[in-house]
Amino acid sequence: MPVLSARGLTKRFGGFTATDGVNLDVAQGTIHALIGPNGAGKSTLFALLTKFHTPTAGQILLDGEDITRLSPPEIVRRGMVRSFQISAVFPHLTLLENVRVALQRRVGLDRQFWRPASALSRLDGQAMELLDQVGLADHAHSLASAMSYGRKRTLEIATTLALDPRVMLLDEPMAGMGREDVVLIESLIRRVARGRTVLMVEHNLGVVETLADRVTVLARGAVLAEGSFAEIRANAEVRRSYMGSDHG
Ligand code: ADP
Ligand code: MG
Repeated sequence: MPVLSARGLTKRFGGFTATDGVNLDVAQGTIHALIGPNGAGKSTLFALLTKFHTPTAGQILLDGEDITRLSPPEIVRRGMVRSFQISAVFPHLTLLENVRVALQRRVGLDRQFWRPASALSRLDGQAMELLDQVGLADHAHSLASAMSYGRKRTLEIATTLALDPRVMLLDEPMAGMGREDVVLIESLIRRVARGRTVLMVEHNLGVVETLADRVTVLARGAVLAEGSFAEIRANAEVRRSYMGSDHG
């Protein structure tokens, strides 16, 4: 059974159809990439899956259960988190404080509003462990604003991990990154994907080839093709509409 499915997911903005009857199955434990030209509806699909938009029609299933009518916090509580959904990077806090805030929000999500000070101080230990997992422990006490772009994005992943998601949605994790940061984040995503399911929008096809078990191509709001990267690359229609001229 797929962990996450979209069934006929449609979103209209006025007279404009941004996603048009999208069917998608994301298998447990896989890294699934969503690709397609600008305006294809990738971000809209993410916003639908995490309930930032309400679908005009269609269904979303998590573990086979209809979650179409749940609120964003309820979806987070069920273990599906989009990066930047709950946590953003606070520039004037240290990295440790940033992760601690995310952990405190998780405590809030668990509906445990009050904790003894000793329990809250344990959050520092957990925050440090998370920073260690993503390779930022050495910078725990530096301000987020002092970090490079790549490290800020890494910190965002750490704050997402603070919610311990089973299903992580990453919208263009490599956007704006140089080659070195791309390699770093690639190995980070591979590590955090162990024991989790990852759905990611990514324009960098080298990254998609390296990381994705499965690829869905969206064009004009609809699924154009689905398969392994090799299958997608060999698909004539995909080449014409997407991988042609400017994507090599
Ligand atoms: P992608 O992420 O694949 O580039 P988007 O999902 O952002 O595509 O956008 C798909 C289409 O839907 C675009 O034509 C965009 O202009 C339109 N769109 C997205 N959000 C809105 C909105 N809130 N209101 C109106 N049109 C929107
Ligand atoms: Mg987008």
